[in-house]
Amino acid sequence: MATIGSVTRQIAALEISGSGSRAPPASSIARPIHTKQSSQDNVAKLLTKFAAPNQHQSQSNLSKLPPPPPSRSDTARSDTQASIDIGRYDGGLETENEKRGEAVSGEAAEDLALDSSMSRTYPTQEWSLHSFDIGRPLGKGKFGRVYMVRTKTTPKYILALKTLYKSELVANKVEKQTRREIEIQQNLRHPHILRLYGFFHDEKRIFLMLEFAGKGELYKQLSKVGSFSEKRSARYIDQMADALIYLHGKHVIHRDIKPENLLLGINGELKIGDFGWSVHAPGLRRMTLCGTLDYLPPEMVEGKEHNEKVDYWALGVLTYEFMIGAPPFEDRGSVNNTYRRIARVDLKFPSTISAEAKDLISKLLQYDPRQRLPLTDVLRHPWIVKYRPKGNNAREGGSV
Ligand code: AMP
Repeated sequence: MATIGSVTRQIAALEISGSGSRAPPASSIARPIHTKQSSQDNVAKLLTKFAAPNQHQSQSNLSKLPPPPPSRSDTARSDTQASIDIGRYDGGLETENEKRGEAVSGEAAEDLALDSSMSRTYPTQEWSLHSFDIGRPLGKGKFGRVYMVRTKTTPKYILALKTLYKSELVANKVEKQTRREIEIQQNLRHPHILRLYGFFHDEKRIFLMLEFAGKGELYKQLSKVGSFSEKRSARYIDQMADALIYLHGKHVIHRDIKPENLLLGINGELKIGDFGWSVHAPGLRRMTLCGTLDYLPPEMVEGKEHNEKVDYWALGVLTYEFMIGAPPFEDRGSVNNTYRRIARVDLKFPSTISAEAKDLISKLLQYDPRQRLPLTDVLRHPWIVKYRPKGNNAREGGSV
């Protein structure tokens, strides 16, 4: 059992390692005038048809996936596919590969020799960089760049290709965690969980073939507008709860729910996109301190055992942050104060929040994990039901 002292030290370390990794709170950011990215929006309409599908399917092999929904004829379809602009490749994969990273050896090399064609559960076809037309850069992660790509073979799917430099994973001691993250994500199929279609590696890098999240990072949108409307927040929380029910049903606890780990699909739907901290929960009880302090539940900051109900708590924190623009227990002056506020469940609401939203948040942010509102009840909560798009009732909170 971790002592309070050791937990506090770990929390302090979290603050140091986390500093600078997160943009200033949304509330402190001036609201820029929102400019519509017209070309991307038009592409999004086409991508609705031609991005690789992500549904409740058992296959993980892109080559086994059904072809994209047909347009008027096959000829028309290939014309349309050819017309989707994946943007201009900047040569970044090659230039970066010359400058960055080195081959790894030994046990780490074995851990990181990740190839979905060798998967025991769902082997895919063999993939390599030559399998794709590379388009525009989508972003830079800690361990490498992400590009918009299209498979060269038909059906031509649009994907996000993420590179991870093996030597940097090793230097950060996350090779085992990365392997676990990939193994977990590979087996998940849910409309609100970013799909991992395949992966391969070369001497220096691992490549992840990810579902393309056409509207990018949710955190950026939140920063841009400061906070979301109740309707928008409720719809995201509906989708999150649905995805978490699915994850917990597979004995996966996410443990790191926060806006930075969420992406938006081409229709603005939410996608859980990062599994760095998730664990398979064999006995449903773990005792590791991890995650971001603002989203940690009392049992984790107090170093107690925890289970999947940590994600219920984080869902409450997320609901609050969506609507208020900052997490409920944040104290930018002191980590220890945040810790104390979490342990006391020192929850305050601005007057702008509706009674129904307050009710849901308060029922999720319960000190005792057993008292937290079950996720199936989140889907039935009046605030969620009120904002769910008509016709979505049958699935009790299915995708929007
Ligand atoms: P990451 O390494 O996951 O932090 O990704 C770096 C950046 O690439 C992110 O901030 C996103 O803007 C972008 N990105 C990552 N994954 C995707 C994806 N699946 N679809 C679209 N953009 C992505």
